[in-house]
Amino acid sequence: MTVLSEAVLADPVALTRALCDVQSVSWNEAEICDEVEAALKRLGHLTTERVGNTLVARTNLGRDRRVMLAGHLDTVPVNDNFPTRTEGDVMWGLGTSDMKSGTALALWIAATVEHPRFDLSFAFYECEEIEAKHNGLNKLAKSRPELLAADFAILLEPTYGLVEAGCQGTMRARVTTRGKRAHSARSWKGENAIHKIAPVLERLNAYAAREVEVDGCTYREGLNAVFIGGGVAGNVIPDECWVEVNLRFAPDRDEAAAEAHLREVFDGFDVEVTDSAPSCRPGLDRPEAAGFVAAAGGEFRAKLGWTDVARFATLGIPAVNYGPGDPNLAHKQDERVEIPRIRTCAEALRAYVEES
Ligand SMILES: [Zn+2]
Repeated sequence: MTVLSEAVLADPVALTRALCDVQSVSWNEAEICDEVEAALKRLGHLTTERVGNTLVARTNLGRDRRVMLAGHLDTVPVNDNFPTRTEGDVMWGLGTSDMKSGTALALWIAATVEHPRFDLSFAFYECEEIEAKHNGLNKLAKSRPELLAADFAILLEPTYGLVEAGCQGTMRARVTTRGKRAHSARSWKGENAIHKIAPVLERLNAYAAREVEVDGCTYREGLNAVFIGGGVAGNVIPDECWVEVNLRFAPDRDEAAAEAHLREVFDGFDVEVTDSAPSCRPGLDRPEAAGFVAAAGGEFRAKLGWTDVARFATLGIPAVNYGPGDPNLAHKQDERVEIPRIRTCAEALRAYVEES
């Protein structure tokens, strides 16, 4: 029996509850994806494609612009908070904030807006809460990028109803110094690699992080040591030392520019990039993005953390985060969502996509 009946699809709050009450911890999204697929196929005004437990649905109205609404279907593991319970204006339970209240809004728009002013695409995807290589959106971006094509994307992750634009990129790199081992009783015969790391730490201490404005959003960068290692034994002059640094970079830099920047900061040292994820431009200069900000109340801020919006950036699609959940409650045992906030976000989205 379907849990996504016509009545449920017509109400974003009932839809949030229904999605939350289908358990879909990462790797267990088959049932919820079946439900969403069946519901969207019943509607008849969308074409659907399923890849694993990721579902893409699209209108094909020949509009000159296309907007994507995306949400993941999975949650972190159950923590004595399944299924949902509602007390007054608050719905408690796994996924209520991160991010089934947001995913429900995408599904609600898909089900109830037959004549949007843009063509709409919807992505309901699997495995966001685990390693990136399993992430349904990441997989689609690599294998079927045409399914994600859009002029603008809204990722319905929890932002407590505020538009959070773009996202900063993140890069880790290992800066290594080398020396020569010797017995510490005859240290002058060696070269101490740990002592040589001092200028690296000095550069980090002296580093003046930029504050960059992109499309009206202020991004504050950061460069910090996050790990350090070195040493052989208590009586040996060490021949190697390394510091791993993490650069959080604004969306005016791409990954290549971020790497070039790190190499410049640590000029003269051995620098090896160990991990990297791209930034995403807010794209608020685009009319479809500006229209969304206006519909959502006119306020916005820069997203400083990294989110899946950057997967859209790699396809050249500007994207924002926007959802009713409180990001501070994500992954917590007492996860919850304020029901009036689901309704406010739903109305903003509908005002944005509906033909005027
Ligand atoms: Zn999430």
